[in-house]
Amino acid sequence: MANYDRLEIYARDGFRCCYCGFDGGTFDTWKFLEIDHINPKGPNESSNVVTSCHYCNGCKGNDPCETLEQGREIVSRHNQTNFKYWQDKVLPIMLKDRSH
Ligand SMILES: [Zn+2]
Repeated sequence: MANYDRLEIYARDGFRCCYCGFDGGTFDTWKFLEIDHINPKGPNESSNVVTSCHYCNGCKGNDPCETLEQGREIVSRHNQTNFKYWQDKVLPIMLKDRSH
C-alpha cells in the first residue's frame, strides 16, 4: 500500500516528467504520466517517488539508483541507446516509406 496519493505527487511535480520534462498538462499527455520509484528498492512513500512519463519510467527500469540525479543519468544513458537504435533501424524504414 502506497503512503502517498498519486495525484498529489503529480501536482507537486507540476504534472511534468521529472526526467525529461514531458508536459502532462492535457488529457492526451496526462495519460502517459506514471509514478516512478527513484530507488526501486526504497520505501513506497512520497520522498522516494516522482512523476515520470511512460517512456522515462521504462528507460529507468530497475537499475540501481539512489537519487533523482542518478535517475536522470540512467534515463539519459538509455535514451542515447534508444536514439541510436531509432536512427539506425527505424528512421531508414520511415524514410523509405515516405519515398513511395
Ligand atoms: Zn520523461
